[in-house]
Amino acid sequence: MTERPAPTPTPPVRAEKLTKLYGTTRALLDFDGSFAPGAVTVVEGPNGSGKSTLLALLAQTARPTSGQVHYGAELASPTALRAAVGMVAHDAMLYPDLTGLENLALYAELYSVPTPQQRIEELRARFGVGGFAERPVRTYSRGQQQRVALCRALLHAPSILLLDEPTNGLDTDSVKRLVDAVVVERARGAIQILVTHDRAFADRVADARIALRAGRRITVDPASSAPYRAEPGVTA
Ligand code: ADP
Ligand code: MG
Repeated sequence: MTERPAPTPTPPVRAEKLTKLYGTTRALLDFDGSFAPGAVTVVEGPNGSGKSTLLALLAQTARPTSGQVHYGAELASPTALRAAVGMVAHDAMLYPDLTGLENLALYAELYSVPTPQQRIEELRARFGVGGFAERPVRTYSRGQQQRVALCRALLHAPSILLLDEPTNGLDTDSVKRLVDAVVVERARGAIQILVTHDRAFADRVADARIALRAGRRITVDPASSAPYRAEPGVTA
């Protein structure tokens, strides 16, 4: 399998007192956290606890009410940051009337991917994106759409990969492929931040864990790791 050359080393991404208010809703409050290259951080928390808000603030698709994110000098400009970030959000960000392949070709051009056809085929193989890629995206199942969204997010070999509930809609084989992809991106030195409710998936990839409750970061005891431990007798 051919992989892209490793990107220039990325400095850690560090959030400092990151706060996002929507009117009176406290989506995220005084969030402090640091994300190292080559580390996979899993973010967990109930619905509405601020997980997607955190990803949006890190991707700079939303502005903090207060606090800031430090990215390192080479990612200081908005253009450089955009080129460094790969994201799968709740919305797949695919054009429904274009085919999967047309979507990938379009994004490859936007990101100036050097050998787009080769890269697209590499990613199709990684995520098992078969002949359906030649049909319009509006005809896809949730899982098919999610796999093309993952290809789209990885096209430009991003140094910061933000995945919001990436296993949604994926079958067992596709989750395994995603685990393999996370491992490859980790070896490449990417910073990876994954929001997931899938405990088995989290257990297989997490180097670090963050738990949010009502917008606040709470401490996770790594010894008990309560939210993620498989039930006794269940193998992940
Ligand atoms: P999670 O991803 O953990 O489910 P979110 O980060 O999406 O949570 O949301 C955190 C809180 O902020 C929720 O109460 C949500 O309703 C609120 N929120 C998120 N986005 C907006 C928005 N654009 N306008 C108003 N409230 C929002
Ligand atoms: Mg969310």
